Amino acid sequence: MGDPRGFLKVRTRQELAERPVAERIKDWLDVHAESGLQPWTTEQAARCMDCGTPFCMTGCPLGNIIPEFNDLVRQEKWEDAYNRLSTTNNFPEVTGRICPALCEQACVLGIHQPPTMIKNDECTIIDQAWDLDYVKPLPPQRLTDQTVAVVGSGPAGLACAQQLTRAGHTVVVYERDDAIGGLMRYGIPNFKLDKRLLDRRVKQMEAEGTRFRTGVEIGKDISWDDLRSRYDAVVVAIGSTVPRDMKIPGRELQGIHFAMEFLPDATRRVYGVKPVHDITAKDKHVVIIGGGDTGSDCLGTSIRQGAKDVTVLQIMPKEPSSRPDNQPWPTFARLYQKTSSMEEGGTYVYSTDSVNFVGSEEEQAKVHVENSTATEGFVADENGHVTGLKVVDVAPGENGPFTRQPGTERILPADLVLISVGFLHPDTTTLVDQLPVELDGRGNVARNDKFATSQDGVFVAGDAGRGQSLVVWAISEGRSCAAAVDEYLTGNTELPAPIVASQRPMALPRTR
Ligand SMILES: Cc1cc2nc3c(=O)[nH]c(=O)nc-3n(C[C@H](O)[C@H](O)[C@H](O)COP(=O)(O)OP(=O)(O)OC[C@H]3O[C@@H](n4cnc5c(N)ncnc54)[C@H](O)[C@@H]3O)c2cc1C
Ligand code: SF4
Repeated sequence: MGDPRGFLKVRTRQELAERPVAERIKDWLDVHAESGLQPWTTEQAARCMDCGTPFCMTGCPLGNIIPEFNDLVRQEKWEDAYNRLSTTNNFPEVTGRICPALCEQACVLGIHQPPTMIKNDECTIIDQAWDLDYVKPLPPQRLTDQTVAVVGSGPAGLACAQQLTRAGHTVVVYERDDAIGGLMRYGIPNFKLDKRLLDRRVKQMEAEGTRFRTGVEIGKDISWDDLRSRYDAVVVAIGSTVPRDMKIPGRELQGIHFAMEFLPDATRRVYGVKPVHDITAKDKHVVIIGGGDTGSDCLGTSIRQGAKDVTVLQIMPKEPSSRPDNQPWPTFARLYQKTSSMEEGGTYVYSTDSVNFVGSEEEQAKVHVENSTATEGFVADENGHVTGLKVVDVAPGENGPFTRQPGTERILPADLVLISVGFLHPDTTTLVDQLPVELDGRGNVARNDKFATSQDGVFVAGDAGRGQSLVVWAISEGRSCAAAVDEYLTGNTELPAPIVASQRPMALPRTR
């Protein structure tokens, strides 16, 4: 710690400035006006107290060596900082932008002051490293004669592939989509994560020797058992893509879509790729069911597409703005956070459940609309298209999580409804048919602590095994899975394994 009084001299955090809302909702570029080294970066980094027990590191699933890189940022030693950071994180340009910063909630300074800016330091280090040309391909010095197929190119698959390629194995990544990146490419919107950052990283990986095959769906274009017979090991990194549905009356009406039918096309259009579902929010009353991060991404996307209005429904009450007693430091508390999309518009409605979708005048007439002006300008559609959503207030219940409040039913006008209430498990239909791996009770691919499935030589990493989670967990799983595969192939490994498969966060952040 260079300045033992750093945190006493600077007591506040300095967040990155965002572009004015009126400007940024007209494009798909990063919402931030600033990136990289700022005049305040080093004094902010000097707030790190270099604690004897750095709890921040226990918060980060990657085990990022946070106090050390904070101090290197303070000293502007960019090459050293990059070398330190890249020993634990393959893609800091991603986590430095979109990680919910589990570490910052575990920062010791956070007990009595705003925590240090760990995530931003991470981002500054990697941005500086790319700008100063420190990021080079690291091809292996010696190739083994072992081959590995990685199925899925999200953060888990990519981290696993990069580690195994650098260890000398011949690695091929198969991706059914038209571009590499998984949810980093086609889930998280461009205004939160510019896809050019992924292209740059993929180029580095190609230069190291990783091979990529896009537009290839394993289970359809190549069968899982055929793939297994062609490679010495297979890593299943297919994500958790089966969405949770809202099985309420009227679900069959048109205009009701899952968030992941809506979001990818927005990014496809930005990059001139043909949309798949071709859904747009333009000139529509949009209702988003589910107030998590995916709901927020749907909000920012709908606003940019020119929605008439957007309502986001959350069944849970609004989160508290400071830690409740049952979520003490250093756990990750579920606190109210205004996302950049929430600043751009839309209305959040909390403690509200969905009763049924509305699609005809008769149904509309049946509904109690007392105290509601929401039906003004609301025209029923005779073609089976959704025109509204009947909702009701809820309160914490005695016999279950929520009780509906009689007399609070009302209809929200809706000609586009986006369901964003989470994901159930991976789509394992072809996998289980062709290469019968065991599943766990939730439908995820079962594995032991070393990421091995019930099939010899078949491993699983990321959301496919853990369930829908976060990029930082996926990278951590990919790294640990690579160590397990390397050990399986060669008998030992020097690759790092930051977590075991059963490791869980201290507390889960917001739901998706
Ligand atoms: C809308 C949205 C926003 C999110 N925002 C954030 C955020 O801001 N911060 C954060 O930390 N996390 C966020 N997450 C969660 C995060 O993106 C995931 O936890 C993470 O991407 C999981 O990584 P993965 O590698 O396990 O799987 P994925 O990223 O889901 O990648 C799996 C890949 O496998 C491919 N695939 C599947 N089956 C096959 C097959 N049979 N053959 C070939 N390819 C196949 C898929 O096409 C996909 O590309 C978000 C999730 C969503 C849905
Ligand atoms: S990856 Fe996330 S949790 Fe880890 S140091 Fe970076 S911001 Fe913090």
